[in-house]
This record gives sequence, structure tokens and C-alpha cells, in this order.
Amino acid sequence: MPKDFLKGAKDHYDVVVIGSGLAGLTSANILARNGYSVLLLEHHYQLGGMATWFKRRNGHIFDISLHGFPIGMIKSCRKYWTQEIADSIVQLKDIRFNNPQFTLQTTFNREDFTKLLTEKFGIAYETVDDFFKTARGMNFYDDQEMTTRELFEKFFPGRDDVVRLLMEPITYANGSTLDDPAITYGIVFSNFMSKGVYTFQGGTDLLVTKMKEEMERNGVDVRIRTMVEKVEVSKDRKVTGVVVNGRRIGCNAVVSNANLKTTILKLAGEENFERDYLEEAKSVRLNNSSCQVYIALKPGMGFEPCGDLLFHSEHKGFDFEAMLSRDVSSRTFSCYYPDTRPGSDRHLIVSSTNANYSDWADLSEEDYQASKEDLIETTLDCLEQYVPDVREKMDHVEAATPRTFEYYTRHVQGASFGTKFEGLKVSKELPEQIGGLYHAGSVGIIMSGWLGAVNYGVIVSNDVDKQLSLAATT
Ligand SMILES: Cc1cc2nc3c(=O)[nH]c(=O)nc-3n(C[C@H](O)[C@H](O)[C@H](O)COP(=O)(O)OP(=O)(O)OC[C@H]3O[C@@H](n4cnc5c(N)ncnc54)[C@H](O)[C@@H]3O)c2cc1C
Repeated sequence: MPKDFLKGAKDHYDVVVIGSGLAGLTSANILARNGYSVLLLEHHYQLGGMATWFKRRNGHIFDISLHGFPIGMIKSCRKYWTQEIADSIVQLKDIRFNNPQFTLQTTFNREDFTKLLTEKFGIAYETVDDFFKTARGMNFYDDQEMTTRELFEKFFPGRDDVVRLLMEPITYANGSTLDDPAITYGIVFSNFMSKGVYTFQGGTDLLVTKMKEEMERNGVDVRIRTMVEKVEVSKDRKVTGVVVNGRRIGCNAVVSNANLKTTILKLAGEENFERDYLEEAKSVRLNNSSCQVYIALKPGMGFEPCGDLLFHSEHKGFDFEAMLSRDVSSRTFSCYYPDTRPGSDRHLIVSSTNANYSDWADLSEEDYQASKEDLIETTLDCLEQYVPDVREKMDHVEAATPRTFEYYTRHVQGASFGTKFEGLKVSKELPEQIGGLYHAGSVGIIMSGWLGAVNYGVIVSNDVDKQLSLAATT
């Protein structure tokens, strides 16, 4: 008999959360803390979604998406998780760039960027200051017509090198392009610039373990290996339950942390939506996917520090299409030194590149394996510039592709960072279409990444709380 991963689960909960990405986890925790009965369903055998890790022979632990997030995570974790989690968030101080236009080292905050832009790039202080103030002042209710390209053209006309410095890390962080609305850039860039780049000391495994403990203290019923097949909707368009691993479980509200398009088009079903909304949902564009190469050195072996994050590129200028290309010319190396997991003796490197799903989707198994092998070899060739003897010191190497991300997180086309900006409106309007159905997860660029996902989980759980408390009093 296959194991019943829903053994002991109740037949009805106040809220069912589909998916344990950072938004799903945060929504589940807040709602349980507020006294609701919450069932968290995750199809994978591990919690965290993209915020996850894997272990390999000889005790190596690889983090998937722990490269850096803004300082805002400290406040969000303190308020919506625990002080202990917030206390493990530490700054990454050594961010490097190496490309044909410039080589530099920075703490990636406003003060240091102002110094670099004025002294190294020769931009007038007033222009830099004005740019920072404009970016900082941008918010959701602003003009959404101006593109990031136009923003840069306004402040730094003809300065492709400056655009690269300002844009490349954000493109890596959330897949945004020069053609996306400037507000998405302004919000995300300013979040990083306020105090630099942060990480969770102890690794994603420790973070997610602590989150699970906190959820269980608050009474969340957490179930792994549970795939939600359907969100059940009544004739008067209200959520009544979900079907998971073939079993029906009733509920008053569903928070879906699954991909926005999957939530609407597959889980809830097209027939339950108004035509205009459905068309809008269908036309939402997904963000790109990613490739990664994971490299672990032999236990106890190390390398000369080459930054915490290293933005390496051989391409002549900032070029989004080139960053996605299978013919890789730009990579971000995340270097994990022993203090990532205090007490460890491990040095690991994860190389990340943005990627097109279509470059990988239709390859035969043989071509797919060969392409992965090529990705690994070319990455090691590139890395030898920074870690000359990496091939001799290496203990383990493997690659992930858009197919890997699709497989583990069920994101359509392995989308790493949710959807383009228009997805946010569709996500927010979901409960107006189906009473009690909410979406929380990477969406609209500004709500993606670790901080965006956690904060969107907070916003959505507040909406669910309002709905449920209103229902209880009427
Ligand atoms: C390679 C890479 C590097 C990144 N680096 C960074 C970084 O350095 N900093 C940063 O801030 N962000 C980074 N990100 C982005 C960040 O990790 C994500 O934006 C964020 O973790 C997404 O959280 P989420 O809540 O949207 O859910 P997701 O992580 O997308 O998780 C969704 C969950 O729902 C589950 N699910 C889906 N469908 C079902 C179903 N039907 N039934 C049950 N479960 C289901 C999935 O299995 C998954 O666990 C990176 C992403 C990638 C891919």
C-alpha cells in the first residue's frame, strides 16, 4: 500500500494553503497564529519551493536561491516569523563585477554606489542623488507607463556601462528587463540599495526547519508529498474545498502559492471565471527561467575569496537576450564560504544564469544530458579564472535547468520569478472572481524574490483574515 500522506488530516479546515514557497509558508503561519485551522499542502518531499536546498555525498549542502535579498527580510521575519530567524540574517559585503566595461568591488548600497558612480564613472553627484531619490520615491500607484529603459535614458543617456552596473544584478535577481515598468526597477533596486545584500546564516535548510517548527507551534497541519489536483468551486463561485492526492478536503478559503496561471487555468478551471478576466489571465507573461551549476570542493579545501556574489560577463554591454542565451556569456557566481554554515569546512560555488525554457524543453534525453554536460564544462572553464585549480579540488558538480525548476516547483515553463508586472493585478483580483480563492507568490516582479514573496504572503493572509472574520460575524 502506498503511504497515505494525508493520514489523520481533518475533512475541513478554515484555510488550505497550496504550496510551501516563502509566500505560502508565511500565509500559513500568520493565519494559524491568528487562530484559524490551516492545512499546508506541498507536492514536493521538502518545504520551501524555490527557497530550498539539496544534499549530496560527503555532506555537501547546496542552496538553490540563497544568493541575496534586501534588508527588509529582517523586519518581515521578526514580525511574521520569529526573532531567532531574523537574528540569523547577515550582510554580504563583498559584491564584485567583472566584465569588459569595468571591474569593481562594492558593498552594493547607496553610499558605495554613489561613490562609484561619481568617482569611477564620472557622473555628477546631483544626477546620482536625483536618480536615487527618484527610484526611492517610486511606488505602486505611480505612473506605470515609463519603462526602465526610459528611466536610465533620462538620467544616464548613452551610458551603457552605468546601465549595466545598475541593471545587471536586478535582472539576475528577478528577470526584469529594460522594457518592464520603471517602478518595478525602482522598488526592487531601492530595497537593495537601502542597506546592501543580506543572506541567512545557517543556510536554507536551517531557515526552513525553523519555519516548520514555528508553523507547528502555531498549529499548521503541514503535509508534504501532497499534490492538489483541483480547487472546488460552488455554483455561486465560492471556494468549498480542494482535491488533493485523490481526497476531497473542505475549506472556507484557499491560498494558492502555485503558479498564478496554473491556479486560474488548471486548479480552479476556466469555466469558473468571467471571460474578460480569463483573457487577462491568459495574456499574463511569465518571467524567464534559470540554469544553475552547483560545485562543491573536497571537504576542507578552499579558494582565495573572490567575492560573495560575482557578476561575471564576457558580453560587451548589458544585453538581456544575451543573458538568457543558451550560449552563455554572463554568469553570477555565489560563493559559499564555511561561515555560511558556521562550523562547516565547506567551500561551494553556485553559478546561476537566466535561461529560456524553450532552449531546453524539447531536447531529447540524450541531447539534454549532453547540453547539461556542456553547461557544466563551460562553467568550470569560466570559473578557472577565479579558482584556478577548481577541477582538481572539486568533489561534486551537477547542473539544473528550466526543466529541473519546472519539475520541482510545478511552475509553468520553470519560471523562476513568477510573472511580468501585469500578473499582479490578476493575482489581486482573484478573490473578486471566486470568493475565498487567493493567490500569494512571486508575481508582478515587485512581489518576487524572497522579500517580495514573504511580503505578498503577509498581504494576502491579511485579506483572508478579513474575509474569514467578516464571515464569522455575519
Ligand atoms: C535559481 C534561482 C535563484 C534565485 N535567487 C534568489 C535570490 O538570490 N534572492 C531572492 O530574493 N530570490 C531569489 N530567487 C527567487 C525566489 O527564490 C523566489 O521568488 C521565491 O522563493 C518564490 O517564492 P513563492 O512563494 O513564490 O513560491 P515558490 O518558491 O514558487 O513555491 C511554490 C510552491 O508551491 C508548490 N506547488 C505548486 N503547485 C502545487 C500543487 N498543485 N500542489 C501542491 N504544491 C504545489 C511547489 O512545489 C512549490 O513548493 C531565485 C530563484 C531561482 C529559481
